[in-house]
Amino acid sequence: MGIRFESVTVAYDGTVVLDGFDLTVEPGEVMALLGPSGSGKTTALRAVAGFVRPASGRVHLAGRDVTDLPPHQRGIGMVVQSYALFPHLRVEDNVAFGLRARRLPKAEVRERVREALEMVGMADFARRHPRELSGGQQQRVALARALAIRPGVLLLDEPLSALDARLRSGMLAELARLHRELPDVSILYVTHDQHEALTLADRIAVMDRARLRACGTARELYRAPADTFTASFVGGANLLPVTVEEHGAHFAGRRLALGAGAARAVPGPRATLCVRPHLIGLGDGPNPLPGTVREVQWRGAGHRLYVDVDGHRVMADLAELRDPPALGSPVTVHFAPEDAVLLPAGDDDD
Ligand code: ADP
Repeated sequence: MGIRFESVTVAYDGTVVLDGFDLTVEPGEVMALLGPSGSGKTTALRAVAGFVRPASGRVHLAGRDVTDLPPHQRGIGMVVQSYALFPHLRVEDNVAFGLRARRLPKAEVRERVREALEMVGMADFARRHPRELSGGQQQRVALARALAIRPGVLLLDEPLSALDARLRSGMLAELARLHRELPDVSILYVTHDQHEALTLADRIAVMDRARLRACGTARELYRAPADTFTASFVGGANLLPVTVEEHGAHFAGRRLALGAGAARAVPGPRATLCVRPHLIGLGDGPNPLPGTVREVQWRGAGHRLYVDVDGHRVMADLAELRDPPALGSPVTVHFAPEDAVLLPAGDDDD
């Protein structure tokens, strides 16, 4: 079931924390809400769940205005970061909780609890108490509890952030599998971790200070970010201040050639040039930039170089170098004209 935010504004004590938020999640789509802490992601989720009331705007589920409906009538499953299981209830009773609250017949409750626990691989743990489970297992139970009501929408609020790195990547794969098994369920997934967003989401909504900054597939946001905030939040980015001229730009006293697609409509002569680190080459080439090596990092799959070009830091992600340059040595880096994107300059928040 689809989700639609229509100009939703939420304020706490007069402070606006979600500002005219518009977003549509298609039925069966996984949408990540990605942004720094405090940008309003959880608030947006809680507005869908019905735990906060918008000061203005409407929330629609499956085409129906639910803004005035109480949470339990919205057909929503929710999992938050801290498991939130009832400690005194066994796993099966935790999972049954929402079903009993809905007064489902006993036999159906039993059947749905079994089905939900099987879905998350926890059927053998039905009789345990939460304290007898690991963090990852507790989070699976929380997921089973959310799934037991057969929700049309699943709201996940940083569900993996309490888990260690190894468990996190396992759970991420598990969530992707679950979604394949439940292709009609829409998922709204709050995270500040771009890796989680890139792995799981069909589209990513980037949030910053109560507002939606950008929304698109990971590839769109990566290849053609609309602004410097999105460029640096989704993937690494070299952001160079340039002066725009016809078919090119000036940077640090040099003329750079730009591809026809690079020049978006940027107001005024000042702009920021965005080039992704893996599109920077070492040695001579198009748009050569001479500089000095400041740092060399080995990252398993390759090297990252930090090069100072006239006081600006340029990052280059390169395949593993047999002979990495020494710190302080002069190098030239370069990039192809078509690999650069011009963005509006002077974002006050970078
Ligand atoms: P995020 O999920 O992106 O970290 P939140 O939606 O949790 O952001 O919070 C957005 C802003 O709203 C923050 O500044 C936070 O301090 C504030 N906030 C969240 N919940 C409340 C509340 N119950 N009362 C007052 N302020 C709140």
